Amino acid sequence: MTSLPAADALSYPYAQTQPARGASIELLPGVRWLRMGLPFALDHINLWLLDDTIDGVRGWTLVDCGIDSAPTREAWEQVFAAELQGRPVLRVVVTHMHPDHVGLAHWLTARWNCLLWMSATDYAVASMAARGCMTIGGEPMAAHFAAHGLRDETVLQAIRQRTDYYTGLVPAMPPRFRRLQHGDVLRIGGRDWRCVVGFGHAPEHISLHCAQDDVFIAGDMLLPRISTNVSVNDNEPLSNPLQQFLDSLERFATLLDNGTLVLPSHGLPFRGALTRIAQLQQHHQQRLAEVVAACASAQTAADLLPVLFKRPLDVHQLTFAMGESIAHLHKLWFDGQLRRIDDGGVYRFVR
Ligand SMILES: [Zn+2]
Repeated sequence: MTSLPAADALSYPYAQTQPARGASIELLPGVRWLRMGLPFALDHINLWLLDDTIDGVRGWTLVDCGIDSAPTREAWEQVFAAELQGRPVLRVVVTHMHPDHVGLAHWLTARWNCLLWMSATDYAVASMAARGCMTIGGEPMAAHFAAHGLRDETVLQAIRQRTDYYTGLVPAMPPRFRRLQHGDVLRIGGRDWRCVVGFGHAPEHISLHCAQDDVFIAGDMLLPRISTNVSVNDNEPLSNPLQQFLDSLERFATLLDNGTLVLPSHGLPFRGALTRIAQLQQHHQQRLAEVVAACASAQTAADLLPVLFKRPLDVHQLTFAMGESIAHLHKLWFDGQLRRIDDGGVYRFVR
């Protein structure tokens, strides 16, 4: 693997000025950056306030919400008091169903009597998960990872007991929404933002691209420092999310360039989208090559964790790591580079 020339590295035009809790920073006229805390190793999420006018009323479109927690609600109250210039929230756009993005959508839309705008797939899945109709974690996840070779009983027990992960962070969903689809154009405050679908991270993730100012609200699909999580989950055990993610990156590369201002959900706003896409493609190709090499003898997804992740993992990180390990195996399996063997209820993959 060759490293990229220094001239092609990402640039961070706002690195000196991150928003304080409950405050915002204007990045472009009418585009403001907020940050909310998260109780994970990944300790923050970026949210966006867009100056907007709907039906003659001037106010704001919010992009993403934060988890439902007392500190996040308090931070929003500070934003309402100090950052909205006395104007109302007119709509809430959500990129995808993960708790840090959609958690407070129910509260924000009720408080401002406005609609949630979101893809139908993510709205449906989030609504099921928030009502406990689809458990994220718990016994189904433990059985899925056990079938992929995870044997550590302490970890499996912790996963079995973690049944309230989603409902704890997303206790409700708004009862109605406005559907966003790939190619839809939202007129927001004098700018046209085109919806760009992305797959592999969430069921139907929506990013927003403003071609006129070359700004891309990436959500979790293009992050500057960490690679987007792509996991095979227990409720969709034959999925191929890494292929979906790589296909999505190809599509993004036709829309964006290295001058595009990318607004990611985690980390700093950056320029260098094509460089970042190339880095991510290279990262996954390298991981895939390592997995193929290791599969000279039959391997489970759990066997490959030390190959793919060189650092210690807590239970939360381990669930992501297992999902990612299966995702790499599945791409190679679907590509015909590996075979899958059912070894008495445990899946092993071999060349
Ligand atoms: Zn996400």
